[in-house]
Amino acid sequence: MRVTKVSSRSNRKPPGGIQLAAAVAQLELVRPPAPGHLEVVRNLINTLDVDKGTDLLESSEQLAAWLRENGLAERKAPKPTEEDLERVHAVRAELHALAARNNSIQQACSTEVLDEASRRSAYALTFDPATNSSVLRPTATGVDGALGRILAAVHAAMADRTWPRLKACADETCRWAYFDHSKNGCSRWCGDNCGNRSKVKRYRERQAQAGQTR
Ligand SMILES: [Zn+2]
Repeated sequence: MRVTKVSSRSNRKPPGGIQLAAAVAQLELVRPPAPGHLEVVRNLINTLDVDKGTDLLESSEQLAAWLRENGLAERKAPKPTEEDLERVHAVRAELHALAARNNSIQQACSTEVLDEASRRSAYALTFDPATNSSVLRPTATGVDGALGRILAAVHAAMADRTWPRLKACADETCRWAYFDHSKNGCSRWCGDNCGNRSKVKRYRERQAQAGQTR
């Protein structure tokens, strides 16, 4: 279960006494967002919630709304089609697999889907003397352009080495995408609930094994 983020740095006493304080303590600490444009990649992956079995992108109308909310829709862009929706689902699945691999979870991944989406977005490399930088921009419009911007964010994160920190939770019932802000980059779970659940599970497995060998 994921709930609203509660700051672990807050020293304020929760109002409402001991009961509420206990309830607040049980709330999972949800990790902060990913840096820069990587957050939209994380958002896309998490539109499919493995834990709850829900998908925020079940229809092309929902996809259109999601693109608007995430600043990926152009003003006069054509409405997404069913084929667009299928392509977004396919790219999302591959990005989820890559995020799982970032957490040492071996999940089959077909880069063909990502290569095809990149091809369709028709990238141009543009230079900006003001910032002394260059950036890959899709020249395609609509969903092709939106996927191009998402994959350009992945490309930039791979180049600046932040990509390995975008991970899918190690809990197989969760698999929520999160950004690993830990100092050593070795966190494995999206939050405390999943980490604790996994530790309890491993403890029980060890107990069961010890029982069998006795
Ligand atoms: Zn999790």
